[in-house]
Amino acid sequence: MKVPKSLLSRLPKTDLHVHLDGSLRLESLIELAKQEGITLPSDTPEGLKETVFKAEYRDLGEYLQGFAYTCGVMQTIEALHRVAYELAWDNIQEGVRYIEVRFAPFLHTAKGLSLQQILEAVCGGLQQAKEEYNAEEQIRSGEQPPFHFGIIVCALRMFNEHIPGWYGNFRKMFTQTKEKDIFGLASLELVKEAVRCRDALNLPIVGFDLAGQEDGYPAKHHKLAFEYAHQHFLMKTVHAGEAFGPESIFEAINFSYADRLGHGYHLFSPDKIRTKKVKDKEAYVESLIRYVSNRRLTIEVCISSNMQTNPEITSIADHHFGKMLAHKMSVSLCTDNRLVSHTTVTDEYALALEHFEFTPKLLRDIITYGFKRSFFFGTYLEKRVYVRQCIDYFDKVWAEEMLEE
Ligand SMILES: [Zn+2]
Repeated sequence: MKVPKSLLSRLPKTDLHVHLDGSLRLESLIELAKQEGITLPSDTPEGLKETVFKAEYRDLGEYLQGFAYTCGVMQTIEALHRVAYELAWDNIQEGVRYIEVRFAPFLHTAKGLSLQQILEAVCGGLQQAKEEYNAEEQIRSGEQPPFHFGIIVCALRMFNEHIPGWYGNFRKMFTQTKEKDIFGLASLELVKEAVRCRDALNLPIVGFDLAGQEDGYPAKHHKLAFEYAHQHFLMKTVHAGEAFGPESIFEAINFSYADRLGHGYHLFSPDKIRTKKVKDKEAYVESLIRYVSNRRLTIEVCISSNMQTNPEITSIADHHFGKMLAHKMSVSLCTDNRLVSHTTVTDEYALALEHFEFTPKLLRDIITYGFKRSFFFGTYLEKRVYVRQCIDYFDKVWAEEMLEE
């Protein structure tokens, strides 16, 4: 199905999976680095695209290299505010009306910012953009839906001495603790602070996530943190099945109470199962697909990002998104990292439409899932009104375009 990009960018959309530290404007990264006295491999956008933020990456390792630079400049309240503000506007300008921005606060503590300061700075930047945009006439008149956002706090599956400042301090506090238990303790401390900031300061912190290297760092080490999130009504989404097998998806659902799944790519990869407990791998995967589908767990699909970090996916048409559609699963298209993956929400939709079988109804359904399965910060009634407004606006834009043709 062919839909012009101009129409795709007008349609109201969501991004439920976008990392703040992977989505900076290159110009801002360069400016902030200058201010902070940080040397980048190049001080022009073109140069950085050649050296760090490449069109194609060898593997996940190379893909992740750019984050050292972006996190390097995101260590002050001003920088965090600016980056968040710009991210909101970049989304608004391509018709995205709702975003859930995720980041790992611990990565921004190198210069001594507290978790609360970090959360407030990011919320402040997003809030400023939201207020500016929602004050525009087309929003105030009710003609178009407003922009809203939520924050997803990421715990890290693992961290090491490369994470500036913080790891060393934390390690010193728990010298007797085994390495694997340190990560769980850190996640618990983080989720407690996230819940406190949500409740005491009314910050729109809506979700808790587990990010970082999957292989060797299972979600179960973070069980206490996810239990805490669960008991305090913080929604959960977990990076699972991005690099590791289907059993990581089972873990995400059952040890981390996942309400949505980040990537979920290897749900369809029986060959990736490593545990010896599973005898019939095909049957296991089939059961897992049924389990995820029946529970309507939405999968946050990031096609460009998966193509860049999974050398085994040789063509877009082979991406498991096709299987997710064939199984009628609940999916939402997301960017993952706008800068590192050189993409936008509009681009992700264009890519999906080009390579997979689409109908207007399917496009509308997928966009609707994004709004419906969001962790909207507000009452359920407010969310319903908002979702309705976004769907109505989708229909209006679509109908106008069809009239013109
Ligand atoms: Zn991600």
